[in-house]
Amino acid sequence: MTTPPKIYKTEAIVLKHFAIGEADYLLTMYTPNGGKLRAVAKGARRVKSKLGGHLEPLMRTSVLMTRGQNLDNINQAEVMEGFRVVREDLDRLSRALYISELVDAITPDEQPNYPIYRLLFEAMRSLNENAAPSLMPYFQLRLLDYSGFMPELYKCVECGSTLAPGHHRFTPDRGGSLCDSCHPLNVSVLPLSLDTLKVLRFLQRETYANIERLHLEQGTLLELERLMEALLRHVLDREVKATRFLNQVAQGRTSDGISTLTASNTKG
Ligand SMILES: [Zn+2]
Repeated sequence: MTTPPKIYKTEAIVLKHFAIGEADYLLTMYTPNGGKLRAVAKGARRVKSKLGGHLEPLMRTSVLMTRGQNLDNINQAEVMEGFRVVREDLDRLSRALYISELVDAITPDEQPNYPIYRLLFEAMRSLNENAAPSLMPYFQLRLLDYSGFMPELYKCVECGSTLAPGHHRFTPDRGGSLCDSCHPLNVSVLPLSLDTLKVLRFLQRETYANIERLHLEQGTLLELERLMEALLRHVLDREVKATRFLNQVAQGRTSDGISTLTASNTKG
């Protein structure tokens, strides 16, 4: 067995940071080859620190690290992509914060999972560019898949029969679809329309390039949202905090207040 090098370089997407000590940050980052890592950036909160502005949450950054006994230290950092458009638009920002919280909540420490890194990166890029409505359900479903929680979409989770076209239901507690005849007790059950089922299957097998162009009806989008939130709540055994912020911003978008604010932010 070889010991890992004391100094190493990696790119990372910063999930969050937390002020510790007099001028330091404790960071949680997601890396392509090391999974979720926590590291200390000493002095990063000092005005003159060379690390400042390169380690903000949601940035894609290149870091030079030294292995420590408990936590690794960040010696150098250089931002690769700041995703400026996301930061300046409340609607996109709320979605990005939800995405980063979700990755943080579902992934264990230091377990390499390159598909999750690629998904996170793809989602940040998409939010920065066109922020397609299909991004969120795609992100949620794929994150569940890459974490080992892909819902069953072809068979009834109760009796195992192949789903025939018709009215189906979905149970987040059992992680999948139910046929017409099964009515298990004491599990939460949500409606699952044929359209939504088809979209879920499409999200499960297609590349993001194809999904980005997918047009979703408002009703399907709402149903997807409800299903994914219920499934994630079941998997994580708690509410994702950023969901509330996400919903508040989404409501503002349809009523008016915030939409005016975001519109003025995106100009220029
Ligand atoms: Zn059944």
